[in-house]
Amino acid sequence: MKKITRRTFNTSLTLGAGMLLQQLKACNNEKYQDRKLGVALVGLGSYSEYQLGPALLDTAYCQLAGIVTGTPSKEKRWAQKYGLSEENIYNYENFDDIAQNKNIDIVYVVLPNSMHADFSIRAAKAGKHVICEKPMAMNVQECDAIINACKENNVKLSVGYRLHSEPFTKEIKRMVKEKTFGEVKYVSADASYYSNRYPNQWRLNSALSGGGALMNMGVYAIQGAIYGSGQNPSSVTAQEFSTRPEYFKDTDETITAQFEFPNGAVGNIFTSHNVNTNRHYSGFENGWIELSPSNNYGPLKGASSLGPFEFQHESQQKLQMDDFAKHILFDTENPVPGEMGKRDMIIVEAIYQSIKEGGRKISLDLGSMGL
Ligand code: NAD
Repeated sequence: MKKITRRTFNTSLTLGAGMLLQQLKACNNEKYQDRKLGVALVGLGSYSEYQLGPALLDTAYCQLAGIVTGTPSKEKRWAQKYGLSEENIYNYENFDDIAQNKNIDIVYVVLPNSMHADFSIRAAKAGKHVICEKPMAMNVQECDAIINACKENNVKLSVGYRLHSEPFTKEIKRMVKEKTFGEVKYVSADASYYSNRYPNQWRLNSALSGGGALMNMGVYAIQGAIYGSGQNPSSVTAQEFSTRPEYFKDTDETITAQFEFPNGAVGNIFTSHNVNTNRHYSGFENGWIELSPSNNYGPLKGASSLGPFEFQHESQQKLQMDDFAKHILFDTENPVPGEMGKRDMIIVEAIYQSIKEGGRKISLDLGSMGL
């Protein structure tokens, strides 16, 4: 592939994407007025390799400009595939030098959960905007530390909840907000997959993941319950089930939880590493919304009581990263602010607490945090 330097990019922008250049000129910060924002991916595992990297070839407002990897053999392959020059390639040790790199505006942390806070905080201190993958961190305290570091260094922060840029999910949010079917009465969200091949993976090691199914897929179910009702839960009750303790030695296998919401609605979530589920249901006074699948990379599928949803499929990651770039460039709404990741971690901690206390109902006082 032809190597894309700043110079050739600027030329192609001028020639081929005049409209974009015109838009960028109107952006709020002089340093972004002649180019797409540069993204550095930190961690080149499967999500970066198969989703984020390819999506960054199609983004309109940002592009892959650098990589940070602990595996030297990946450097050459990525450099060749994406036309990256050597000065834009970092490892975990020299990562902080990225502060001096003017080609990089956004650092996207795509590492095991235990490394999210460290790299997000270092990125903020380097003056870079941050996208941190889900779950945002190991616990609420770490979420606070990331949020504070971004505030102190005056950089923007988002969490990798790609569905907020995805049209089916946006339609649910719109219908709930506009009360298309009246008051919501019930919401149900399932997010899980069957894991049986790699018992030693980091996701099943609590020191690296912070927890099992709940930390990995459960956050999607929590998210669904919230955007599918338009409210934060006021209480949670939870149960854990373990049927394969020989495989899930260190992390939760299956969790169900029930929510109460301020308007009187109730909700139910299911998450597991022991079965494939991928479904959303919102029931209202005068109608319903259902998606299945509801949380994978798409295309999603679903309907409301008015009829099927018909949206063209696009890469969710492309839409997500462009939404964050537009937030930086034009002050548009940040669809996934850091507070949303922190709120979900408060709920995760309450679920684990409820399980630990034999299913006791835990009250939550979240107000409108992350809504
Ligand atoms: P992965 O296991 O495929 O990759 C992990 C990367 O981290 C690898 O490049 C590995 O070399 C590196 N790494 C550094 N230290 C490590 C250690 N001690 N142990 C293991 N790996 C280490 O994982 P992934 O699927 O790419 O997930 C990375 C992050 O992205 C996670 O936080 C995950 O929850 C998130 N993710 C989000 C989505 C989404 O849809 N938003 C999808 C997949 C993953």
